[in-house]
Amino acid sequence: MAVDLADLAGGRLTIDLGALVSNWQHLAKSSGAPEAGAVVKADAYGCGIERAVPALRVAGCRTFFVALVAEGMRVKASAPDSRVFVLNGLFAGAESAIHSNGLIPVLNTLNQVERWAAFARELGTPTPCAIQIDSGMRRVGMSPRDLERVVSLDYLMPHLDIQLLMTHFACADDIGHPKSEVQREVFEHTSALLPDVPRSAANSAASLQGGDFAYDLARPGVALYGGEALNDVANPVRPVATLEGRIMQITKGAAGDSVGYGGTETLKRDSRIAYVSVGYADGYLRSASNMGVPLRAVAPAATAWFKGHSLRGVGRISMDMCGFDVTDVPKNEIAEGDWIELIGPNVPLDNVARAAGTIGYELLTGLGARYERIYVGG
Ligand SMILES: *Cc1c(COP(=O)(O)O)cnc(C)c1O
Repeated sequence: MAVDLADLAGGRLTIDLGALVSNWQHLAKSSGAPEAGAVVKADAYGCGIERAVPALRVAGCRTFFVALVAEGMRVKASAPDSRVFVLNGLFAGAESAIHSNGLIPVLNTLNQVERWAAFARELGTPTPCAIQIDSGMRRVGMSPRDLERVVSLDYLMPHLDIQLLMTHFACADDIGHPKSEVQREVFEHTSALLPDVPRSAANSAASLQGGDFAYDLARPGVALYGGEALNDVANPVRPVATLEGRIMQITKGAAGDSVGYGGTETLKRDSRIAYVSVGYADGYLRSASNMGVPLRAVAPAATAWFKGHSLRGVGRISMDMCGFDVTDVPKNEIAEGDWIELIGPNVPLDNVARAAGTIGYELLTGLGARYERIYVGG
C-alpha cells in the first residue's frame, strides 16, 4: 500500500477557520464601522486564501483587500460576488487584467488615476476604483494636493466610479500616538473634497480601537489570523494557526556538552533534547535560536509546548530541524513521532516572533510550504 505522504510531513499547520470567523466578528463589532472587510493579501497572511475567503464570506464578509492582481483572482474564484480591492496600485498594462477579472484597483498616484480614467473612457463607462490618500505615513497614496487636482480635472472625474477613499495609519498599534490624530485630521479634511464617497482607514489596530477611526469600512488583517495588533495590551483575538513539529530523535547530552551548529549552547545539566523536523527552511526563523533583536519585549529564545510542559529551545535552529529541552518531561511520556507545539494556543505566535526579533505578521506570512495543512472549524 502506498503511504500517504502527508503522514510523513515533519510539521503540520492547523488553521482554525472557526477562530478566524469569530475574530472577524469581534473586529467588525469593535471597529464601530457599518461594514467590515478583510485583508487577505499574502495568501491570507499564510493561512490560505482558498479556505479563509469562503469561511469569511459565509460569515457575511463581502469586501476583500489583496496586494496583487494574482491574489485578487484567487479571491474572486473563491467568492465571486465579493468586492476585491488591489492595494498595490495599477502597474502599467494591468488595466484590462484588473477590469476583466472584476477587481478594483486602489489608485495611489495621479498618474494611476489618469491611466484608469483613460482606460474607462475607452470602455465607455465609469469604472470602479478606490483612491488612497497619503495622510502622513509617506508610504504610498497621493497627496491631498493631488486629490484636489483629480477633483478639479473635468476630463478625469466623469470616468471614475470612486467606491472608496482610503488612508493608512503609521502608528495605530500605539494607542494614543499623536501621529494617528494628525493623520486622521488630514484624511478628514482631504476626504471632504468627495463628500459622497465612503471612507476606510482602520487596519486591525484601529479596528480594535474603534471610535474616530471607524469611517465606513474597516479593513483588518493580522488580528483576523490571531496576531497581536496593539502594543502593550492583552491580545483579544483567538489563535488561528497552530504549528506542530514531529519529534525525529531524542538526544542525550551531558552537562558541559555544547549543542548544535557553532556549539553556541553549553548544557548546564545532563539533558535530553527532542529534535523536531521543522527548521528555518519552514519559516521557523533561525533568529529565534537566541539573540534576536526584540522589537516589543525581550525573549531569549523561542519556547515550545508538550503535554503541559513549556520547553526551552536549545542551540541553533537548523534548516530542517530544531531542538527543545525535554529533560523535565518524564521519559515514558514522550517518544519519537510525537508532536510538539511550536506556535498555537500554548505558544503565542507573537512570543515566537519576539524571540526572533520580529512581529507575528512576518512569522505567519513566512511559514513554509512543507507542512501538512489541516483546516478545522470550517
Ligand atoms: C496590510 C494592510 C492592512 C491590514 O493591516 P493589519 O495591520 O494587518 O490589520 C490594511 N490596509 C492596508 C493599506 C494594508 O496594506
